[in-house]
Amino acid sequence: MSDSFKLIKNAFDRISRLTKFSEEDFRNAVKPVAEYYNAVLVSMEIPFKAGSGHILTLYGDSAADINGCQVVRYEGEQSVGGKTVLTWIGSTEHKWSDEDIEDIRFFSKSACVMSEKLRLGEMANRYFYFDTLTGLNNFNGLSKIAAQLVRRGVFDDYGCAFINLVGFNYVNKKVGFRTGTKVMMQYAERLREMFDRDEVVSRVGGDNFIIFFKKKNIDKINRIAEGITINVRINSVTINFDLTARAGVFMVDRPDIPLDKVLTYLSNSINYAKSYSRTNVVFYTKDIEHKVVEYKEYCQKFRRAIDKKEFFVVYQPKVYTKNNTLYGAEALVRWHSDNRTIYPGEFVEIFEKAHLINELDFYVLDQACSDLRKWLDNGYKPVKVSVNFSNEHLDDDDLVERITEIVDRYDIDHKLIEIEMTETVDVYETNRLLSYVNGLHQNGFTVAIDDFGIGYSSLLMLQSISVDVLKIDKAFIAEVTGDQNKRENIILRHIINMADDLGVEIVAEGVETGDQRENLTSMNCHRIQGYFYDKPLSSSNFSDRLAVRTY
Ligand code: C2E
Ligand code: CA
Repeated sequence: MSDSFKLIKNAFDRISRLTKFSEEDFRNAVKPVAEYYNAVLVSMEIPFKAGSGHILTLYGDSAADINGCQVVRYEGEQSVGGKTVLTWIGSTEHKWSDEDIEDIRFFSKSACVMSEKLRLGEMANRYFYFDTLTGLNNFNGLSKIAAQLVRRGVFDDYGCAFINLVGFNYVNKKVGFRTGTKVMMQYAERLREMFDRDEVVSRVGGDNFIIFFKKKNIDKINRIAEGITINVRINSVTINFDLTARAGVFMVDRPDIPLDKVLTYLSNSINYAKSYSRTNVVFYTKDIEHKVVEYKEYCQKFRRAIDKKEFFVVYQPKVYTKNNTLYGAEALVRWHSDNRTIYPGEFVEIFEKAHLINELDFYVLDQACSDLRKWLDNGYKPVKVSVNFSNEHLDDDDLVERITEIVDRYDIDHKLIEIEMTETVDVYETNRLLSYVNGLHQNGFTVAIDDFGIGYSSLLMLQSISVDVLKIDKAFIAEVTGDQNKRENIILRHIINMADDLGVEIVAEGVETGDQRENLTSMNCHRIQGYFYDKPLSSSNFSDRLAVRTY
């Protein structure tokens, strides 16, 4: 084997051992060959265009003179115009023999093909590990990094967050898909800038990101959830988008945890954040896992439960304390499932989130009307029954019509039905509530505001909406004592007086003790619903109560 051939073979071996394209490594591999010929490799230009379909075809140039130097130059040309050039320059004294030229031609050609293969591999890597739109890691990239963190035993230095943008559809709708894409790219850039080099930001499809952050940087996740403002210029007008997000977070608790476990935790937390939680950032706990499973299970069972009439209604008496007599009842739903009774505290919120509650509320109203019809037909003198309607109904355009239709189907006097709704802070929803209250009044129904005294209750609402009843929440009642100067008592006394002046009835919920009853009556509140008188009663027990109405 000739010396030149040995050198060339060695150079090929080195090149073929390279796993990624690096110009420096490539030049180092080529150097011994160039030195052997007492030549310098002056250029090596191997541009590549993706998707050309051809790697390259090389053709050899003959030796030529450039500025008195003898040159051997090889060009590889791609169909789309990319070029591969390897240029060798000899010294002025050196003349290439035909054999030399043959060797160099062969070496250049093969080396170019190899380098091109490496470059292609690099390219494929990029597509495999990175998101083409944003340049962030994609899911494969993220998996690779997670495996490295596990190998290095440092995964538990990190927290993981699954980020889902809120209402990104709206951006696309407002500015179109093309600009929406620009917004997404800018957003990704901003996320990348927020984190350090040893942290990972990846886009895992659509408007979803997964971030591995150093635990001390958890605050950044809160900031992402609160919102990042992106400005885009369209036709010389700047539009701002406040992109808020939901985040499911898991703080890695052992260094060797497999990624698929982390992903399950993240997925449960983000689902919880989307479907259940009132806060946008949800940290993974065992309890969440349980809740998410329960959520899915309840939603899956809902349809069958309606069809099989597993929901039933109980009635909690309302008592007028001046004569200790029953004057009304609240219809409360129960769910009989797998031989146990499930209480609304376990499912109402779930069905609200899953937009199933409206159907359930109409079902309860239907049951209550059916029971009222039975009591009427059996000669009982019924009392007004109130039915809870979730605020989810505020988007129903035909709420009043549907209520009327159900009540009329059983030929029930509208005066016997009251609708309980809660207040809202949202101006739009308050306006909707106002129009429902008017519609219900026009049809002869009365309206109660539930849970008054907690949450969003505002006296302003009383100014604009003429409700018939305020139900003071049991949390408030639990605080009632005989102490006239206690703040809670002062507030309650004033609410009661004000309601009285406005001609609004006050009902105290959750009254459990004789003391509470006394204190309320001394404050001029004479309508009470609570365990002190009765727990919610089954339909048949309630008909007995209709027969004997005095306590
Ligand atoms: P709510 O409307 O505030 O109903 C009163 C809740 O307080 C009922 O719980 C009742 O059983 C309970 N309660 C009554 N008296 C006492 C008492 O003296 N002490 C205590 N600690 N609790 C008392 P329930 O039946 O479990 O209902 C819970 C909530 O579920 C209801 O609160 C209501 O917001 C919702 N809900 C019940 N039925 C329906 C329905 O058909 N539709 C909708 N949308 N929500 C419903
Ligand atoms: Ca209620």
